[in-house]
Amino acid sequence: MNGPAVVAIDGPSGSGKSSVSRGVAERFGYRYLDTGAMYRAVTWCVLDQGLDPGDAAAVARLLPDLRITSGTDPAHPTISVNGQDVSVPIRGADVTACVSDVSAVPAVREAMRAAQRACAEDAASAGTGIVVEGRDIGTDVFPDARVKIYLTADPAVRAARRAAQDADSVHGTSGASATEESLLRRDERDSTRAVSPLRMAEDAHLVDATDLDLAETIAAVAHIVGETP
Ligand code: C5P
Repeated sequence: MNGPAVVAIDGPSGSGKSSVSRGVAERFGYRYLDTGAMYRAVTWCVLDQGLDPGDAAAVARLLPDLRITSGTDPAHPTISVNGQDVSVPIRGADVTACVSDVSAVPAVREAMRAAQRACAEDAASAGTGIVVEGRDIGTDVFPDARVKIYLTADPAVRAARRAAQDADSVHGTSGASATEESLLRRDERDSTRAVSPLRMAEDAHLVDATDLDLAETIAAVAHIVGETP
């Protein structure tokens, strides 16, 4: 094997990356890494410490004190910071609103990239592959990934799926359109930042899930993974 068998799955918010990545990892017996959860965990710490998410220097100063641990079982992914399980609070609206600011800080990206590469090395040492989902996985973190997928769907479909997932929100029509607005704002920020913006790698396979349900999307991605030497 040429280094770790990495399946990189990138794409915008609400494209179904997490469910699809977990399903594909389970199908191949691979590990699973949610890199968005890592950026959310840093953001949660920034807010927990009362820091300004827009203050890049303060955010960078926090990094040496953070030990972010990702559990990579696709059936039970976990994330903790300095031993504290933060799986639930990192999904809060406060974290979602600030995560694009924090993830644009170069020192944060550098630290997360190193941790993500270490996770893949770990999987390779254990003789298994890993599905890694995020925004810059195929372009920046693992430019030599064995398979690269760019998963997307129409914005309205992504917003509707995200709204349906949001257990704590009460959505009427205006709620769904508010979700679409905030999702597009986050995509815009993630796609235009200076360091490793969201974009499709030249050698990625494009999967458009607008008209596919979850099982069909997993099957489409698994087919590509199975066909790629
Ligand atoms: O995937 P999720 O929506 O949880 O990601 C949250 C945020 O983390 C994204 O909006 C983006 O700002 C950041 N992120 C990133 N690079 C990644 C994964 C996520 O910048 N590889």
